[in-house]
Amino acid sequence: MINIALFGPPGSGKGTQSKLILEKYGLTYISTGDILRQEIAEATPLGLAVKSIIERGALASDEIIMQVIESHINTDALSKGILFDGFPRTNAQCYMLEDLLGKMDTALNCMIFLDVPEAELCRRMLERARTSGRSDDNIDVINRRLEEYHQKTLPVIDFYEERGKIFHIDGMNSVEEIFSKITDVISKSL
Ligand code: ADP
Repeated sequence: MINIALFGPPGSGKGTQSKLILEKYGLTYISTGDILRQEIAEATPLGLAVKSIIERGALASDEIIMQVIESHINTDALSKGILFDGFPRTNAQCYMLEDLLGKMDTALNCMIFLDVPEAELCRRMLERARTSGRSDDNIDVINRRLEEYHQKTLPVIDFYEERGKIFHIDGMNSVEEIFSKITDVISKSL
């Protein structure tokens, strides 16, 4: 299996690159953000529990993310592997992922970090706000999401740095250039 985690601040281009990675490698896609938005749209108990948290730009609790991951991971032996987008996002979630993949007798090949300066992130998210319809794409909530990222998500980098599994990619290049670097990283990590 090829298991990849795509990591980066909100607005760094993870969604765009995910589509390209999925097309090329035929992986199963797990985006915790997409799953949570789906749960909210369907007004499930989990969706109702996270709605206001997401709308104010905070992270969902690790317990909720645990439920999301456990109910969406298909331990199907035929799967070529999994692309994780937006997970793990806290230190506790890193251990959750290790455990989960361990039980499936596999491991994470690499974490790809899309690095983009903050001013550009704000510009992109405000631009996206005009078309996305996402209630968390507005300036106050964007600032809160960036704060959460600095406080809770940046430590994830250290976790994978220590394990030699993180690869930094400059997210200011073109979509094609970034994707080509990502494919190089994946080939090296196989
Ligand atoms: P972005 O990367 O642009 O912030 P996502 O779609 O990945 O967007 O996530 C949207 C929101 O969903 C986050 O701001 C957070 O509230 C919640 N969320 C998604 N994934 C996680 C996670 N792994 N842990 C906690 N909260 C999460």
